[in-house]
Amino acid sequence: MADIDGIVRANIRNIIPYDPKQVEYLIKLDANENPYGLPASVEKRLRKFAGNPDIYRLYPDSNCTSLRRKIAAFWKTGEENIVVGKGSDEIIQLLVEVFVDPEDVIVAPSPSFEMYAAAARIAGGRVVYVNLSKESDFEYDANGFTEAANASNAKIIFLCTPNNPTGNTMPVEAIEYIAAMCPRSVVAVDEAYAEFGAMTAADLTGKYGNVIVLRTFSKAWGLAGLRCGYSIASADMTRYLMAVKPPYNVPAYSQTAASEILDASAEISMRTDGIIAEREHLAVLLKSEIPGIKVFPSKANFLLVQLTGEIGMSGEEAYRALAATGILVRSFRNSPQLSDCIRVTIGTRGQNDIFAGEFKKVCGGKAAML
Ligand code: PMP
Repeated sequence: MADIDGIVRANIRNIIPYDPKQVEYLIKLDANENPYGLPASVEKRLRKFAGNPDIYRLYPDSNCTSLRRKIAAFWKTGEENIVVGKGSDEIIQLLVEVFVDPEDVIVAPSPSFEMYAAAARIAGGRVVYVNLSKESDFEYDANGFTEAANASNAKIIFLCTPNNPTGNTMPVEAIEYIAAMCPRSVVAVDEAYAEFGAMTAADLTGKYGNVIVLRTFSKAWGLAGLRCGYSIASADMTRYLMAVKPPYNVPAYSQTAASEILDASAEISMRTDGIIAEREHLAVLLKSEIPGIKVFPSKANFLLVQLTGEIGMSGEEAYRALAATGILVRSFRNSPQLSDCIRVTIGTRGQNDIFAGEFKKVCGGKAAML
């Protein structure tokens, strides 16, 4: 038998595969997906597109030419500033491939989206975390990032605004300060949830060659299943990403769906406003109905909820109790700072109210048992 363990790269050997929980559910509020289906106009055009046998037989447009043109027009920039990926996940991977050699450092907030560190570790890079403190509602401190990056010669500084899973944002002025103070680092601004309430840093990409903004069709635009995201950056940075991008990376159906949904931006924007209103409704409901929890302020399509000592239950226990009722939320088993928290995605009014009712029972049940 071949000794595969002996052949594999040392830094890959101990990586545990990312394993999103795939369990039965009635209400899915664990992955920050959109509760609404395709707008009717988009669905109609996609049905027609799906009837074309060539889209199955032929490779898709490798450079996503027409989608890039459309995204560029949406942002009033040029197509030479846009890269389309199989989700913004792929753009994160491309960035790391372009900039990170083994032993190079990336700086990332903690807690935040885990893909930044995962991609860097696969490349053999090292991760320097800037800790966000629960006591200050995870507020970003720009100096923490400039100091960490300059002290470690960081190749990439990842910022996530609104941050997943904490929901807070970083002001554009703070991002600009970091870009100016760290000219030898790429500043990657992940705006996966920006439609739900953050200002965009896209304008900075014209002024600072080291800034790249990542966006996705998975959240506000409701196309998570089709895996499509993109970046906005200088033409130079874009050229490097395009150079390492695998050919034909985005399926034809995904390219067309993303392109069509941009035409429905007015409808998407109304839905997004509705989700924001639901977020505020759910936050008020939880705070008024469940004593002993803390709801962190959020500008995203989810809420981070802390089960304080009064309730005496871990986030994982709350996750399990809710899953037993068919409601999926996210817990953070591997994060000491978030072990008493759950993250719940904003669903429809009906879903949110059912969640709030069950969560209240779960919290009350544990308190009653004590
Ligand atoms: N960034 C953040 C902060 C996310 O939460 C996610 C998805 N959970 C992504 C990027 C990746 O999104 P996608 O690959 O679907 O575009």
